[in-house]
Amino acid sequence: MTTTLEVQQIPCLSDNYGYLVHDTVSGLTATIDTPDTGPILQALETKGWRLDFIFNTHHHDDHAGGNLALKEKTGCEIIGPRADAGRIPGIDRQVGEGDSVTLGEWQFTVHDTPGHTRGHIVYHCQQAGVAFVGDTLFALGCGRLFEGTPAQMWDSLQKILSWPDQTLIYCAHEYTQANARFALSVEPGNTDLVARDVQISAARERGEPTVPTTLALERKTNPFLRPHSSNLQQTVGLVGASDVEVFTRTRELKDSF
Ligand SMILES: [Zn+2]
Repeated sequence: MTTTLEVQQIPCLSDNYGYLVHDTVSGLTATIDTPDTGPILQALETKGWRLDFIFNTHHHDDHAGGNLALKEKTGCEIIGPRADAGRIPGIDRQVGEGDSVTLGEWQFTVHDTPGHTRGHIVYHCQQAGVAFVGDTLFALGCGRLFEGTPAQMWDSLQKILSWPDQTLIYCAHEYTQANARFALSVEPGNTDLVARDVQISAARERGEPTVPTTLALERKTNPFLRPHSSNLQQTVGLVGASDVEVFTRTRELKDSF
């Protein structure tokens, strides 16, 4: 039997994505965050899967708000960030940088990625080439800095940038089209970005998701990963500045875009 890690993407609320991750050999299933209970329970029923785990990325209500209801209905175990354990409803197991969580044979490495919230974590499965990054990295964007500094977020993004190019990045929101408008405003000379914008508009017109993305594509087009770009540096008025300075300015500009 071929071992497969199956990922089921579930649109939730207005623009969230929930994800069920299922190991075909052991039959174990995890949900990445709990943006809403109805659509997640519906997806479990459709697939005929039982929920064994919740892997939480951070405490926000559109990520952990369904924890208690899903735990009560399924008896699943809730895994979440040690650094924010007090704000993760029903947490059973606390994890942080370098820990791993397993789903059958699949191993997910946990990284602390503070910035969006102080206790945000991401889950990377190197074997399967997939990562669940919550609200740290988005297609063409990154999370707002509600509880962290730009320098912290830049450090967090470095961890993600250390993964292989072909890693599939599952982020938690469909923000890509709006992010593309901002990206083009700060890096108009990026031909890869111009081409991607056309593809994104076409996909959205067809009602298709633009998530997951790949790290390779984000490296080429996401302004928050490109502080070294001379075009970006010129647009934000920081030619020759450090990566963290350019990242900080880019994040500020996005906040008021
Ligand atoms: Zn959030």
